[in-house]
Amino acid sequence: MPPAPPTSDPRRPCPLCGADDAAPHWQKENLRVVRCRRCTMVFANPVAPELVSGAFYDRLAIPFYLSAVKLEGDFATSRFDRELRLFHQFVTRGAVLDVGCSTGAFLGELQRRFPGDYSATGTDVAGAALDHAAAHGVEIIRAPFLEWDLGGRRFDAITFWAVLEHLVEPRRFLRQAAALLGAGGFCFILVPNLQSLAVRLLGAKYRYVLPDHVNYFSVRTLRAMAAQEPAFAITALRSTHFNPVVIAQDVRGGTARVPDEERARLLQRTTAWKEDTRLKPVRALYSAVEKGLGALRLADNLVLVLRRK
Ligand SMILES: [Zn+2]
Repeated sequence: MPPAPPTSDPRRPCPLCGADDAAPHWQKENLRVVRCRRCTMVFANPVAPELVSGAFYDRLAIPFYLSAVKLEGDFATSRFDRELRLFHQFVTRGAVLDVGCSTGAFLGELQRRFPGDYSATGTDVAGAALDHAAAHGVEIIRAPFLEWDLGGRRFDAITFWAVLEHLVEPRRFLRQAAALLGAGGFCFILVPNLQSLAVRLLGAKYRYVLPDHVNYFSVRTLRAMAAQEPAFAITALRSTHFNPVVIAQDVRGGTARVPDEERARLLQRTTAWKEDTRLKPVRALYSAVEKGLGALRLADNLVLVLRRK
C-alpha cells in the first residue's frame, strides 16, 4: 500500500476555476477526490509533493516505462492508431512537439507511417525514458516545459496524450502550448473521460482512478479549461477507446491499485488482439460498440482538438 500523503500538504484549489469550495467525490485508499461546487471540476486534493514536482515519474521511468512489457505495448503499431488517424486529419506535415512523450512511441510511429512529413520533438519529466526516445531519432528537450524559451521557434502541432490528468496546474501547460504554437497550429489533448461507461459502471473501483491522476475531466470541464485560453479555438471534441476487458476485471477486482506492470501487460495483450487477423469478426463488433460509445461520449477517453488563432 502506498504511504499516506504527508499531512503538511497544502490544500489544492480547483485547477479549473481556482475556487476553494469542493465536496467529497471519491475516497480510494489514500486518494481523496473532490468535486468543485462552483464549476463541477473533479480533482484530487491533497496531492503528494512528488506528483507536483514530477519526481514520481522520473522514479518510475526505469522500472516501468522502460520495462519490456511497457515498451512492447507502446511500440506496437496499433497502440497509437486512433491518435495518429485523428492527428493526421488535422496536421499532414510540419514540426510536432509531444509533451509527455515518454519513450517516444507516438512520435516514432508518426515518422514511420509518414516518412519525411514531420519533424519530431519530445519532452518528459522521466529522464531515462527520454534517452530511449533520443535513440530512436526524436529531438529531445530536457528543460521543464513551463520554463522553455525557444526564441522565435514555433511548432505546427503540440500533443498531450494522457498528460493533463497528471498535472497539478494543467492551465499553465495549455498557456505555454499556445505560446509555442504558430498561428493556425493545432493542440491535441487526450484525457480519461469522467463520464465514460467504465466510470459509470465502476466509480472509484476503476483502475484509472489512481493517485497519479489528479484531474478527472468531463466534456464540460475539459471544454471550460480550453475556453480559458483565449488564443485557442475548439475545433473538435471526440470520445475514443473502449477496453471491455478492463471493465470486466475491475468489476471483480477490489479497490487496491492495479500494479503498473499488470496494467501494461493487459494493454499489450489487447493491442495484440487488435493486430490478430483471426479475430476480425469480433473486431468488427468491437469497433461498432466503440463507435457507438464514442458518439454518445461514453468511451474511455476524451480528445480535444484546439486551433491556435
Ligand atoms: Zn472549480
